[in-house]
Amino acid sequence: MTTTKIDDLLTEDQKLIRDSVRDWVNRNVKPIIDDYAQNHRYPEHLMKEMGELGLLGPFIPEEYGGAGLDQISYGLIMQELEAGDSSIRSSASVQSSLVMYPIYYFGNEEQKKKYLPKLATGEMIGCFGLTEPNHGSDPGSMETKLSKQNGNYILNGAKMWITNSPIADIAVVWAKDDEGKIRGLIVEKDMRGFSAPEISKNGH
Ligand SMILES: Cc1cc2nc3c(=O)[nH]c(=O)nc-3n(C[C@H](O)[C@H](O)[C@H](O)COP(=O)(O)OP(=O)(O)OC[C@H]3O[C@@H](n4cnc5c(N)ncnc54)[C@H](O)[C@@H]3O)c2cc1C
Repeated sequence: MTTTKIDDLLTEDQKLIRDSVRDWVNRNVKPIIDDYAQNHRYPEHLMKEMGELGLLGPFIPEEYGGAGLDQISYGLIMQELEAGDSSIRSSASVQSSLVMYPIYYFGNEEQKKKYLPKLATGEMIGCFGLTEPNHGSDPGSMETKLSKQNGNYILNGAKMWITNSPIADIAVVWAKDDEGKIRGLIVEKDMRGFSAPEISKNGH
């Protein structure tokens, strides 16, 4: 029986990317992360460093600030971040897959130019609001409402367990419109009525 090693399936570039991220994680994440966790702090500088290394939205084309890498390279980057710390991987994968990707895929040109380059450098942090206190991640039962009043969009609702939310500059928020269709919106943190408190030990 012949066996194939995973390494045999990777290109030299993919292996180089994986090894470089592994090295960065060993030097910059593992030595500090336990201390941050025990002291209930978030190492915000790591998002900037990951941005500088091209680890945020690496599959986004270079014209929008991404590294233009393939999805296997993205998977290898996330694997190495996860090996160092799950929450750092969550921060990076939410930023990449749940914020940058929907903006790249569904956003208009103005939105792509405005947000993607800053999200790629880590200058801007994003979060993704689907899960709700009463219905978890079931979009069919979603209570958050989007309605149009006098030409303005009114977004009303609450989300929970949202990675990056207390430090996020923008949130991709999911809501049901007047016809019951699920819509995604980009909400900036300074927009009126928006708040993103941390979840306390009691879960509130
Ligand atoms: C650390 C963390 C970070 C998170 N970050 C985000 C985020 O950034 N954005 C966001 O929107 N959400 C986020 N979430 C929420 C997360 O996505 C949801 O908690 C997760 O998807 C589970 O969904 P749920 O809570 O609705 O649980 P459910 O889907 O209701 O599942 C609860 C339990 O019921 C079981 N179950 C569900 N349906 C069935 C069925 N039909 N039959 C039998 N068993 C079933 C499941 O297996 C599970 O054990 C985060 C959660 C955590 C813990």
